[in-house]
Amino acid sequence: MKTARDIAKHVNTGGSAVEIVQEALDRIQADTSNAFRETFAESALTAAADIDRRVAAGESPGPLAGVPVAIKDNICTTEGRTSCGSKMLEDYCSPFDATVVTRLQGAGAVVVGKVNCDEFAMGSSTETCHFGPVKNPADPSRVPGGSSGGSAAAVAAGLVPVALGSDTGGSIRQPAAFCGVTGFKPSYGQVSRWGLVAFASSLDQIGPFTMDTADAALVFGVLRGGDPNDGTCDPAPAKPCQVEPTDLKGMKIGIPTQTATDGNAESVATMLEQVRQHLTEAGAELVDVDLSLLDQGISTYYVIATAEASSNLARFDGIRYGHRAEAPGAGPDELMALSRSEGFGAEVRRRILLGTYVLSAGYYDAYYNRALKIRRMIRDEYLKAFSSCDVLLSPTTPSPAFELGGITDPVEMYLCDRYTVGANIAGIPGISIPYGQDEQNLPLGLQLLAAPFADEELLNAASAIEKMRDLAGIPGAMSP
Ligand code: GLN
Repeated sequence: MKTARDIAKHVNTGGSAVEIVQEALDRIQADTSNAFRETFAESALTAAADIDRRVAAGESPGPLAGVPVAIKDNICTTEGRTSCGSKMLEDYCSPFDATVVTRLQGAGAVVVGKVNCDEFAMGSSTETCHFGPVKNPADPSRVPGGSSGGSAAAVAAGLVPVALGSDTGGSIRQPAAFCGVTGFKPSYGQVSRWGLVAFASSLDQIGPFTMDTADAALVFGVLRGGDPNDGTCDPAPAKPCQVEPTDLKGMKIGIPTQTATDGNAESVATMLEQVRQHLTEAGAELVDVDLSLLDQGISTYYVIATAEASSNLARFDGIRYGHRAEAPGAGPDELMALSRSEGFGAEVRRRILLGTYVLSAGYYDAYYNRALKIRRMIRDEYLKAFSSCDVLLSPTTPSPAFELGGITDPVEMYLCDRYTVGANIAGIPGISIPYGQDEQNLPLGLQLLAAPFADEELLNAASAIEKMRDLAGIPGAMSP
């Protein structure tokens, strides 16, 4: 599959966007991964024809001209449904487009459909999706990761070169690692969340899945920039982003000792050793960094994220929004309870209960307030780390993709995000790039983190490491 920048160049110089979009629709039709929830064939082909007309008239439709993109099912589009992978919103049609969708379209991208995710973005395997699990294109017996599993699989299977996902605790980076594609979570406040169905508002951030870092930067340049509809978004005006690989010679790369442990699968540990060796050969300066609070990340995250989720999901009451139970004669309270019990799956219910508990009068200080304090300490620890290194490097996940149905214990599932939740807690940018495969040909992912709002520096560093990987002959993106 061609990169987004190649497609845009082709279309901007007279190549047919209709042809490109039709080919993507054909590939999606033949796909068996269940990545797509629905496609927008008619509107996508109309949009593509419009782009072709504009190019023929001498206009330039933008840096993503004719690029087919997929949108995670928790990002609002007026076309089709926005179901968040839930029975609760099975038939919900949004009356507006998310800012990110409007921006993509404004840059010439063509939205070809919505992709499946864990219910309300809660999960690490896309198995909590009401519309069936998504299969990992590298091995269909395995999960694609989650919660943005459909987005990762859509790029990895070569269906589209770009998909949007959301990342609250790792939901872009972890599936990117499992599927062998690039997944970028910008700093909190870089990309507008308006139109993203909120899971945990202080942690959520939208970002792209692509085949490489240069495409991630291209899409990021289109997405970022102030939005009056999102007060947490930096008001700086939108500006394009282009990667320029940093010189690895002399670059200070921190490796958190807590991520280089016995807890990693053997293939992950070997990959990390190999990366260390390549970086040393390239002249980078490797520094061991002590992130003593890394292991507090998961518990802090599961208090804050569930607290916010319990409040955000209160709006789905079966009266104003969402699935309404058949309950003739029921009063409003009973109707609400029944609708919510029927509409939400087990994982979402578990989190609402946990979140309500940690916010309840008797436990607020012991759990929620304490988690906020630890959150601040974690952020401070990251900031301190960035005073001694340019970026932090670790495996994205402790292991490669697991079997569908392979993890049934919720806590074991939560631990998949051990290395990723820190970036959300601290609000810093993070990227996962593919770095080879294990002996079963399962992709492995390398995570890089940088200081708040050092998103461009992060992308430049990732691009340099990607170049180093390619020179070493290590496989990159899995997409055909
Ligand atoms: N896997 C994590 C969770 O289940 C992260 C999800 C996300 O980033 N949306 O909450």
